[in-house]
Amino acid sequence: MLSFFKSGIKPIAQASKDYLNKSFGISPDFKRFNQRNDIFNRAMWDDSVHPKAFFKSYDITNYKPKKSKGFDHWDYAFRNASWHMTDVVGEMHFEKEGTVQGFTDYYSVQTPPSPMQVPIDDINDCTKRIKHAAKMFGAGMVGICKVDERWIYSHNYNRKTQEAKPFDIPKNLKYAIMLIIPMDYELSKTYPTALSGASTGLGYGVGLHCANTLAQFITNLGYQAIASLNDTSLSIPMAIEAGLGEYGRHGLLITPEFGPNIRIAKVFTDIPLTVDQPVEFGVKQFCNTCQKCADGCPVKAIPKGEPQAEPPNFSSSKGIKKWTVNAEKCFKFWVGMNTDCAICIRVCPYNKDFSKWWNRIGIRLANSPLRKLMLKLDNLLKFSDRVAAAKWWEDKTRD
Ligand code: SF4
Ligand code: SF4
Repeated sequence: MLSFFKSGIKPIAQASKDYLNKSFGISPDFKRFNQRNDIFNRAMWDDSVHPKAFFKSYDITNYKPKKSKGFDHWDYAFRNASWHMTDVVGEMHFEKEGTVQGFTDYYSVQTPPSPMQVPIDDINDCTKRIKHAAKMFGAGMVGICKVDERWIYSHNYNRKTQEAKPFDIPKNLKYAIMLIIPMDYELSKTYPTALSGASTGLGYGVGLHCANTLAQFITNLGYQAIASLNDTSLSIPMAIEAGLGEYGRHGLLITPEFGPNIRIAKVFTDIPLTVDQPVEFGVKQFCNTCQKCADGCPVKAIPKGEPQAEPPNFSSSKGIKKWTVNAEKCFKFWVGMNTDCAICIRVCPYNKDFSKWWNRIGIRLANSPLRKLMLKLDNLLKFSDRVAAAKWWEDKTRD
C-alpha cells in the first residue's frame, strides 16, 4: 500500500530554482520580502492592523477567558501552555535586544562547535544520517535544498526598537534542512477555538526542539548551523524546493504525508549535503477543482480565481504568480476571536490522517481524473466538519 501511495508522488527532474521560476512565473525584478511588512510585525507599527488583546491573550494573567465553548479557562490554559517553551526560549533576550527568536530572529542557543570536524567521505551517507537524526528529534519529513537567497528576508525587524535593518545570513551556509513538523490531527479538527490553538503551539514547540537539537548535532560535528522557525526566510518556497510538497490555494504547503496540517522549521548549515528535487502529486489540478478553503474562510480572505502576481496588500510578496491570502482580513478575524484560526487547514481535503490506508487512496484519487469523485466523497463523509471542543476533551482514546 505504501508503494502504491508513493508511486503517485512525481519528482521533478529540474533544478529547484528553475522549477519555481516556471511554476510561479517569478518576475526577474522580484524583490526579497521585508520582514517589517509581515502582518504580525505590522501589528506592532501599523495602526490599521490593531492587535487589540490578541497577543495579551497568550498570557493568562492578562486575559479573562470567555465562557463560550472551546474558549473557556481550560482551553486558554492549555493553548497558552502549549506555547510556553517557545515563548520562554524565543523571548529570552527580548528585554535587552528586542529579539523574538524563532519569529523575528534565528536561535542563538547552540553551544560552540566542536574544534574537530568529522571527516565526510560520502555525502549521501552524511545526508542520510542528518535526516535520521532530524526524524528522531521530531520531524515527520525532512528535505534539503540549496539556500535560494530570494527567500531570505531583505530586512530584519526589531519589535522593541521598531527598526528594520538590512539582513543576510553567512554566505557559507549553503544548505537548508527543511523540517516538516506534523500538527495533531484531532486537535486541528476543533479549529477555530482557543483549544485548537494548542495544535499550533505544540507544532511550534516541537519545531523549536527539532531545529535547535539538529543544529546542535551539526555543530557538535564541527560544522556551522543556524536553527530557525518563521524568522530569517520564507519557509514555504524553500520546502517546495526541498521536495516536501506543493503549494495550495490557501497559501500553505500541502505535504504528501501530513497534508497542510504542519508547521515548518529549518536549519541553515555548511555541512555537505545532497539536495532533494521538488515533487508533484496533483495538488495544483485538485485546487483548480476544489475551493473548500475559499468557501470555508469566514472573512473570504482566500481567492477563488486564478493565481495572481499582484498581492492583495503589502504583507505578501509581489511578482510571484500564486494564490495569496489577504493577510489583513485573515489577521483581523484572529484578533476578533482572540486566537488563531486554521479553518482552511481543517476543511482542506488533503487534511487527513494518512496513516490510514483509505485516506492514502483518497490522495491518489485527488491526483487522477477521478478528483471530482474524491471531492464528492470528502463532502459526503463530512471530513471537514468541526469537532466540538468538549468532544475533544472527553475523547476516551487518550485516557
Ligand atoms: S486562517 Fe481562517 S481567516 Fe485566515 S485564511 Fe484561513 S480560514 Fe480564512
Ligand atoms: S481546500 Fe481545496 S482548494 Fe483549498 S488548498 Fe485544499 S485542496 Fe486546494
